[in-house]
Amino acid sequence: MKEILLVGSIGIDDVETAKSKVEGAVGGAAIYFSYAASYFANVNLVGVAGSDFPLATINDLKERRVDLEGLEITSGKTFHWSGKYHKNMDYRDTLATDLNVLASFKPKIPERYKKSEIVFLANIHPSLQLDVLNQIHNPEFVVMDTMNFWLEGNRETVLEVIGRSNLLIINDSESEMLSGNSNFVAAAKDIIIDHKVKFIAIKLGKYGVYFTDGQQSFLAPAYPLAEVVDPTGAGDSFAGGLVGYLAKTGDYTFDNMKRAIVHGSVVATYAVSDFSVNAIKNLTEEEIVKMYDKFKDITKF
Ligand code: AMP
Repeated sequence: MKEILLVGSIGIDDVETAKSKVEGAVGGAAIYFSYAASYFANVNLVGVAGSDFPLATINDLKERRVDLEGLEITSGKTFHWSGKYHKNMDYRDTLATDLNVLASFKPKIPERYKKSEIVFLANIHPSLQLDVLNQIHNPEFVVMDTMNFWLEGNRETVLEVIGRSNLLIINDSESEMLSGNSNFVAAAKDIIIDHKVKFIAIKLGKYGVYFTDGQQSFLAPAYPLAEVVDPTGAGDSFAGGLVGYLAKTGDYTFDNMKRAIVHGSVVATYAVSDFSVNAIKNLTEEEIVKMYDKFKDITKF
């Protein structure tokens, strides 16, 4: 069993869909990731929250396999994000991104976190991702996520982080922003060659995930759900299930990565069935296995 060092946003979200909305919901990439990954392995969290972040969530995470020595709570407001989904849930508009306490965050990695074998650089300013990478010794496997917001303003730094990662997780529109190629298969190939990353997973929303090392490829569907309540955090929950499974198995071969991709998709399926982290807070091992088997069933022919 490997340990995961995680850095990412801790947030308070306002989310509106065609049918409903929530305000002040617990969110942020690191929070979704922590819940998802903790079903599989130990997570050492590095991040910052403001004094308004709900204590109940912090206490809830403490009861899981999430170490919070690297969590800083400072006076000021927590990172805030607000988004509104289009009717079909495929697209969303970001209405606000307020960095708040994230703007002046300087990650300090607790000494015992530095031996974590796997590093997950969740969505956050790429300079902070670099800062964390620079503070740890020789991790076995580095996984990174990013989003259009950071690619627009900090492209060079994002590219530097990609060059130091083993697996890049992005969505298809971000793969186009990175490579200039609107075909995600060609974009993945270009990114692997140009930026020397070993693996890439391109999230295709309701069409699933495309995974490749530039030679072999794998396509996992998204589970066909009749109702999606809130897609927020699907990507972070996917990453949590994926990286958690990699930490549990310690096997970075292409075949095992496929199983990791499906475990990520399993947790993401639950994540979208409710707002915030509500649906991934209390999963059981049986539910995870049951959904994994459903993925096997719908892809077998
Ligand atoms: P996802 O739906 O997987 O893209 O993740 C949504 C989560 O990412 C929300 O809970 C937000 O709080 C968080 N988020 C949104 N924008 C950013 C950003 N620019 N940097 C870091 N986290 C963000």
